[in-house]
Amino acid sequence: LNRRLAEFGTTIFAEMSALAVKTGAINLGQGFPDTDGPEAVREAAVRALRDGRGNQYPPGPGVPELRTAIAEHQLARYALSYDPDREVLVTAGATEAIAASLLALVEPGDEVIALEPYYDSYAASIALAGGTRVPVTLLPAEGRFRLDLDELRDAVTDRARLLLLNTPHNPTGTVLTRAELTEIAKLAVERDLLVVTDEVYEHLVFDDAEHIPLASFPGMRERTVSIGSAGKTFSFTGWKVGWVTASPELVSAVRSAKQFLTYVSSGPFQYAVAEALALPASYFDDFRADLRAKRDLLSEGLTAAGFDVYRPAGTYFVTTDITPLGESDGFAFCRALPERAGVVAIPNAVFYDHRDAGAPFVRFAFCKKTSVLEEAVTRLKSLA
Ligand code: PMP
Ligand code: GLN
Repeated sequence: LNRRLAEFGTTIFAEMSALAVKTGAINLGQGFPDTDGPEAVREAAVRALRDGRGNQYPPGPGVPELRTAIAEHQLARYALSYDPDREVLVTAGATEAIAASLLALVEPGDEVIALEPYYDSYAASIALAGGTRVPVTLLPAEGRFRLDLDELRDAVTDRARLLLLNTPHNPTGTVLTRAELTEIAKLAVERDLLVVTDEVYEHLVFDDAEHIPLASFPGMRERTVSIGSAGKTFSFTGWKVGWVTASPELVSAVRSAKQFLTYVSSGPFQYAVAEALALPASYFDDFRADLRAKRDLLSEGLTAAGFDVYRPAGTYFVTTDITPLGESDGFAFCRALPERAGVVAIPNAVFYDHRDAGAPFVRFAFCKKTSVLEEAVTRLKSLA
């Protein structure tokens, strides 16, 4: 393994899912739903396969039906207008969108600022691009992980090229507010930064939280690559259909990298996701309501079991602090948890450069059947 990748090893998700299989524990580690997405969308994929749509290489930017559906989604939801022919690119999940964006836009030695804790592929993709990552740590305050705007401002040096943002945020569940995004946008314009914004959990926001795309702020549309994914919104993580919306120049750059990574992907599934994006508003509302109830069930169960809980405003993850349980090392805690309580979780420290800052935090996923969450909560109570 070369020096760029040597520090990364195996992803925590593979390690923890393997541990769940080996011990028979309930897997609240890796974020994937245990119920597939809508029947109508699965049927659309079957129809595409049967009708021979997408069984051979689809067009490089993605099939026109899906690009149009993505553009219509951005317009209807956020009043953001993108030309499906020049400003939309379909990717092999958000993971490829992130990697291709960084490979396309970062010069070796450029600094890339990312909010820590960050989704694990960010660090590896920055490294593949030869960039230097500059983490800005989200700090817990008043029940939420908060971005310190002064710290963000201080992190921008003359070598800074790009800000890699994620809202709603995995693993903390923080949804950046309009006020925070306004300041981020001002900073990006002032310091002439490109922004890659990972918005894969855009539809998973609860209560009065609102997802506002960074691209909709003044001066941002032309400097922002926005990333979405069907995996999260429609519960088909195995299909690996993601997308990028940005200016023609940025989309063309990302596509230059993408064409040598996968060239194209997910042919028939692209047609199905085009139909999914056109589902009525009730689909999105019901999905959100279901997850909100699950968030509350798991958050309350974790509180009862003795954890400090950061109830998330978005995503399907809840971050906890294990300190009240007399624990301080999330890694050791998560490695022992399957034997101790029959549950698998993820130590947030893997998402930090400053591992000490993440040590006491542990993440649980709640995109699982209610009965599974109830059983997990019962098991976890044995820790109290
Ligand atoms: N970004 C974030 C923040 C994620 O949580 C995930 C999924 N775990 C991804 C990107 C990757 O999405 P996809 O499965 O579409 O590649
Ligand atoms: N995004 C999911 C998570 O954060 C997992 C994705 C993966 O396994 N690479 O848990």
